[in-house]
Amino acid sequence: MLTEQEALARILALVSVLPSERLSLNKALFHRTAKAIFATVALPGFDNSAMDGYAVRAAETQGKAPLHIIAEQPAGKDQQLMLPPRSAIRIFTGAPMPRGADAVIMQEDVRAEGASIVCIEPVEPEENVRFTGCDLFVGQKIMDAGERLTPAKLAVLATQGLAEIEIVSSPRIAIVSTGDELVSAGQPLEAGQIYNSNAVMLEALVRQQANAEVTLAHFPDDLPAITEGLGQLIATHVFVILSGGVSVGDHDCVKPALAALGIKPEFWRVQIKPGKPLLFAQSGRCHLFGLPGNPVSAFVTYQVFVRPALALATGVPEAELRMPAVSATLAQPLQNLGDRPHYLRGKVVDGVFTPLGSQQSHALFGLSQGNALLRVDSGETCAVGEVRTVLIY
Ligand code: AMP
Ligand code: MG
Repeated sequence: MLTEQEALARILALVSVLPSERLSLNKALFHRTAKAIFATVALPGFDNSAMDGYAVRAAETQGKAPLHIIAEQPAGKDQQLMLPPRSAIRIFTGAPMPRGADAVIMQEDVRAEGASIVCIEPVEPEENVRFTGCDLFVGQKIMDAGERLTPAKLAVLATQGLAEIEIVSSPRIAIVSTGDELVSAGQPLEAGQIYNSNAVMLEALVRQQANAEVTLAHFPDDLPAITEGLGQLIATHVFVILSGGVSVGDHDCVKPALAALGIKPEFWRVQIKPGKPLLFAQSGRCHLFGLPGNPVSAFVTYQVFVRPALALATGVPEAELRMPAVSATLAQPLQNLGDRPHYLRGKVVDGVFTPLGSQQSHALFGLSQGNALLRVDSGETCAVGEVRTVLIY
C-alpha cells in the first residue's frame, strides 16, 4: 500500500497545466492568469491633481499676497497650461498639472477675492500632486502567472486598456456518485436509502477551488451501467471524481468497470485514515479519482489528493497546491494507535485546536462543525498544549 506522499507524487507527475485561452475581463473573475503581465500604461499616466483646488507654486502660498487666477484646467484634456509667477490655476481632481506649478492648494484652504485667491493654509511642494508612475511604472510586473483574478486585480488590468486576458482554461470535471442506496433531493426516502450528500459536497469543493465546467452523474451498483457511463465521462472530461464503489464489497463495481474499459489503476489503497480505499487511474488526458463513499473519507481524500491535482491543472503556483496551514495549540492529548496516519477533524478557535465529534469516517456532522484537520502519524502521541500545524478547510 502506498504512503500518502508516494500516492500524491504519482498523481502530480501525471497532471499538467491546462491550455490557456483568452477571456474578456468581465468573464475572467476568479480565473487564473496564464502568464505574467507587465504594465504598458503608467499609473498615474501624467502628473495630476489629487484635489479640487488651485495649482500653485508652494513657496507663494506662505504669505497672504493674493494669487491671480489666470485659467482653469478641468480633468479630461490637457490644455498644456503654464503657471506664471504670483498666480494660480483653478484645477480639479484628476486634471493634468500645469507646468510651473508644484502643488495644489485645496479649495477649502483659500479665500476667493474677486479673480484672486488668498491662501489660508500654505502647502508644501508636491502636496496634493499625484506623480506619473508613482503607483505603477511602465514595465513593472502587475501579476505573476497563476494569480487568481480578484475584483481589484481585474481593475488594475482594466487600467492597462486590456479588453481580454489570457487565462488557464476551465477544466471539465465529472462528479460521479455510485450506489443503489442513494436518493436525490426531493425524492422520498424508502427504508434503507440515504440522500446523496457526496455529490453536493464534491461539487462545492471543486467550485470553491476552481472555475470548472461540472457534469454530475449517478450510477447504480451495476457493472454494465457503470462501465458504459464511466467510459463516456472519461473520454470527455479532464477529471472524473467518483465516490463510492471502490471498496472490497461485492457491489463495488468501479474497479471491474475500469478493467472492462481496459484501464489499469495507477494505484488502489493508500495509507491514510480515513480514506484507505482511494483509487487513482489515468486514461488519456483524464485523471480519475475513485474516492471512498463514506462522506468524511471522500472529503479528506479530496483535500489531500484531488485538491493539489486540480490546483496544479488550473495553474495554481506550486507553493499553494495544498490545504492552507496554521499553527495551533492542542486542547487535548491525542494518540494514534493505528497503522495509518489519521486526519482528525476539529475546530481552531483563537489558535487552539479541539477535536470535534465522532472521528468515524461516516460522521459528517462533526466535519461540518469544524474548520481544520490535524494529521497525527501512526504511533504518534501529542501532548496537551503542544503546538502543531493544522490544515484549514
Ligand atoms: P461504498 O464505498 O460504496 O461501500 O460506500 C461507503 C459508504 O458511503 C456507504 O455507507 C454508502 O452508503 C456511503 N455513500 C456512498 N456514496 C455516498 C454519497 N454519494 N453520499 C452519501 N453517502 C454515500
Ligand atoms: Mg456503494
